[in-house]
Amino acid sequence: AASGYPITTATARHLERPLFGHVIDGEVVASLDGATMDVIDPATGAPVAVAAAGSAADADRAVRSARAAFDDGRWRFLAPLEKERRLRRLSSLLAERGDEFAELDVIDAGLLRMYTGFIVQFAIDGIDYYSGWPSKLNGSIPPVAHDLAVYQTREPIGVVGLISPWNGPTAVFAMAVAAISAGNSVVLKPAEQTPMTAVLMAELAIEAGIPPGVFNVLQGAGEVVGAELVTHPGVDAISFTGSVATGSAIQAAAAPQVKRVSLELGGKSPFIIFPDADLETAAQTAMAGVWGASGQVCTCGTRVLVHESIHDKVVDMVVGASRDMRIGSGFDPESQMGPLVSAEQLERVQGYVSIGREEGAELALGGGRFGDTGFFHEPTVFTSVRNDMRIAQEEIFGPVMAILPFASEEEAYAIANDTRYGLAAGVWTNDLSRAHRASRALRAGTVWVNTYQMVYPTVPYGGVKQSGHGRTLGAASLDDLTQIKSVWMRV
Ligand code: NAD
Repeated sequence: AASGYPITTATARHLERPLFGHVIDGEVVASLDGATMDVIDPATGAPVAVAAAGSAADADRAVRSARAAFDDGRWRFLAPLEKERRLRRLSSLLAERGDEFAELDVIDAGLLRMYTGFIVQFAIDGIDYYSGWPSKLNGSIPPVAHDLAVYQTREPIGVVGLISPWNGPTAVFAMAVAAISAGNSVVLKPAEQTPMTAVLMAELAIEAGIPPGVFNVLQGAGEVVGAELVTHPGVDAISFTGSVATGSAIQAAAAPQVKRVSLELGGKSPFIIFPDADLETAAQTAMAGVWGASGQVCTCGTRVLVHESIHDKVVDMVVGASRDMRIGSGFDPESQMGPLVSAEQLERVQGYVSIGREEGAELALGGGRFGDTGFFHEPTVFTSVRNDMRIAQEEIFGPVMAILPFASEEEAYAIANDTRYGLAAGVWTNDLSRAHRASRALRAGTVWVNTYQMVYPTVPYGGVKQSGHGRTLGAASLDDLTQIKSVWMRV
């Protein structure tokens, strides 16, 4: 292709866009002050496109657009089945144009093409799921005294600010459609590292018949436009996915307005392997769980807890199979691991490798940057890790696995829970009772037994402890996206 990437003509044409702008009231627009930011390909470090860099004034425009669309009822007052038809059309359009999204996500985030294909399918599934909800958001009739009647309705919240990370840019559209299916208007602020596909999605929404102003996109730095969304009085709720530090700052900033906030934050998920497990599958899955998106997934099983009787065997399996992994561009079908998203992320991972060494963990594999172009890092395994080390407590968001031995089941759960995080946990055992004991003992929003990182739109997803609160996906997510109104009448 003219772009130099092995991509479809349609995707190449997107790369020729002069600007990945904001999408406000159905129009793709530049920032009011004309400010822009480069879109960097993490596999080369080179700029490949230009996006708008918004200011507080742009955030205000986007919020006003969403507010107007909500207040005049152009979407929420549409008949439920008409909403559903249009959302299904959106899902079909995304399916037809899926390659463009998957290819742009490779260029934007550095992810493997196979992985971005899964993300696009996840978004399609999510939109399909939520497109069935508008006609099923029933209210209820609570019993009260005989001379009174009460009914309860579920109403949209209003304008939802959706602030998202860079590690699965197209996945967030499932969350955006969840909000829209409940009748809300959305201002989506993509991560500044990955601004491209949000623009395409907003255009598809218009094509599908979602009225202008219902799905807006606001580009720019989190500290500028993200922060403005959080404090803007026209925004009724914030749905944030990202780091604990940012989530905590957002919750504090939203507090004076008592604004509803739901937070999907980081993790340091334990991946526990008992001696009776299928060790081959467990070891393969542990590797897939950390190397998959170069360790940049919130549910990565980065603390691998292995029973002492099988510890050396599992370490040999992981180190042996990871040593010759093919690291390269997400477009190369032979690549097993792509780059990290940015130079900052590469530096951060390198920093943690030094910390691990200083703390006395043993570097069993990798530890270095890979190549000298782009932001690649070797798969890295630390053994002799103690759970109080920083490399066991802090989210690295890179291809760094910490392996910790344990002696008893109780000790495994104690180590697993000894963290501020509680997003997910994995358990590998063929003992049915132990699987149930583990699922009860582990403090996490999701527990996977003999599998890992499964997600499906019907299944609520979210964290406990500092991994956040609120749920995305499943019917539970609609509790965060609607509010109940009770209407009393004397009869
Ligand atoms: P981040 O917190 O730095 O940024 C996330 C988003 O917040 C970006 O869009 C950013 O621009 C914006 N932002 C930054 N500062 C802000 C502020 N002061 N006010 C408002 N918005 C602001 O996170 P990241 O580095 O992009 O992503 C990695 C993190 O996301 C990891 O911690 C990872 O675990 C987490 N994550 C969690 C989930 C989940 O579902 N729980 C999913 C993916 C990623």
